Amino acid sequence: MAAGEPEEQARFRAEVRAFLAANAEPRRESDPWAVNFHTTDEEARRHFEAVRAWQRKLFDAGLAGLTYPKEYGGRGGQPWHERIYNEEAAAYAVPRGYITSTIAMLAPTLLAHGTEEQRRHYLPRMLSGEDAWCQLFSEPGAGSDLASLACRAVRDGDEFVVDGQKVWNSGAQYSDRGMLLARTNPDAPKHEGITFLLVDMRSPGVEVRPLVQATGASGFNEVFLTGVRVPVSDVVGEIDGGWAPARTVLRHESAFIGGGGVQVNPRLVALARMFGAAGDPVVRQRVASHYIRERVLSLMGERIKAAARRGGRGGLDPSLLKLFVAESRRLSGDLAAAIAGPHALVAGEPFQRWLHAEVVGRFAISIGGGTNEVQRNNVAERVLGLPREPNPYQGRPWRETPRS
Ligand SMILES: Cc1cc2nc3c(=O)[nH]c(=O)nc-3n(C[C@H](O)[C@H](O)[C@H](O)COP(=O)(O)OP(=O)(O)OC[C@H]3O[C@@H](n4cnc5c(N)ncnc54)[C@H](O)[C@@H]3O)c2cc1C
Repeated sequence: MAAGEPEEQARFRAEVRAFLAANAEPRRESDPWAVNFHTTDEEARRHFEAVRAWQRKLFDAGLAGLTYPKEYGGRGGQPWHERIYNEEAAAYAVPRGYITSTIAMLAPTLLAHGTEEQRRHYLPRMLSGEDAWCQLFSEPGAGSDLASLACRAVRDGDEFVVDGQKVWNSGAQYSDRGMLLARTNPDAPKHEGITFLLVDMRSPGVEVRPLVQATGASGFNEVFLTGVRVPVSDVVGEIDGGWAPARTVLRHESAFIGGGGVQVNPRLVALARMFGAAGDPVVRQRVASHYIRERVLSLMGERIKAAARRGGRGGLDPSLLKLFVAESRRLSGDLAAAIAGPHALVAGEPFQRWLHAEVVGRFAISIGGGTNEVQRNNVAERVLGLPREPNPYQGRPWRETPRS
């Protein structure tokens, strides 16, 4: 029990401790170099399923969706439940992965924009890991300018029929369901003719093609949709009004990516010691500066997460946090490369594997979930109130606007 902790919180802490002791392995000495980085598809799939199984265990123990309402499978708890769980889980090697991120994006979106039936059906299945979700937003011609997307959905009675292509869809090859943005009204301005659909990834006409990366694993996929039928009851929000729930997803995605922090400081220190650079004043300065960024980040993350749980925006724009994390990740990758550079090219010891992931992967967060440039535009417009980028096609139908 933490000193001075109220009894209810101490009881919950004891419950979490007992659960973790019975179900998870304590973090070991060698774990500091553990990475969420897979070199084969088989390894990636095993990890994905381990995260799903862990989510199920949490759910069965009443520890999933701690702040979500009980009627939707959550615990109906307070932000302190999450804080205490995270404090206790930090000492254990619990599986962490993609499922958690789509829960963080879609669950609050269904709470804000979903129907009661959608919440009752999908939220418990999501929180238990029974349904793993992927995000089907980006297209070859629509990334930063997401609202220009071209995947079509045409109404046919009680269903929409979807045709088009998506790309960069993380985890789609393992997922049961996808959150999809499709164009339902090409005659409306681009933001006003999009519908948000919940798609069964096993539907006829869904083809997932993994994109093999240099590492051998396939973090992303192309997803082709040909005549895929989606019931109208699986529209989130209004037909043609999908931009509102899409923005809710993107806001929570930024908050999730930012809120995770990068927590590499102990490893940078260990690396500096290992390479005899811990006494180098420049290295020390860069490590200290990184540590300060990490602390600031975790405080910013807490503030945003607390606001998101209350359903509000909380005075700190998620784009700011996402930008800060992306920069921090780049700086820590640069520093790791400066300390131990060539070792990033050797796959052998656990620290080399970590170093490789750190150096090679340091720009992923600068792109995924919206690029740094897009986040800067968001900050300029939403936070600083600067004029929007000029758009000569403002208000014109989507079909008349040029696309990449
Ligand atoms: C790790 C990772 C995971 C991802 N997972 C998913 C996923 O699960 N689902 C999904 O749908 N997508 C996913 N994506 C795709 C991601 O959302 C897009 O890559 C991203 O939005 C950028 O789009 P783009 O690649 O088409 O680049 P583009 O939009 O073509 O951008 C190219 C360059 O132009 C710059 N640029 C574009 N517009 C502007 C502007 N207005 N002002 C200034 N600069 C601009 C960009 O910043 C960038 O540098 C993922 C990407 C990554 C890296």
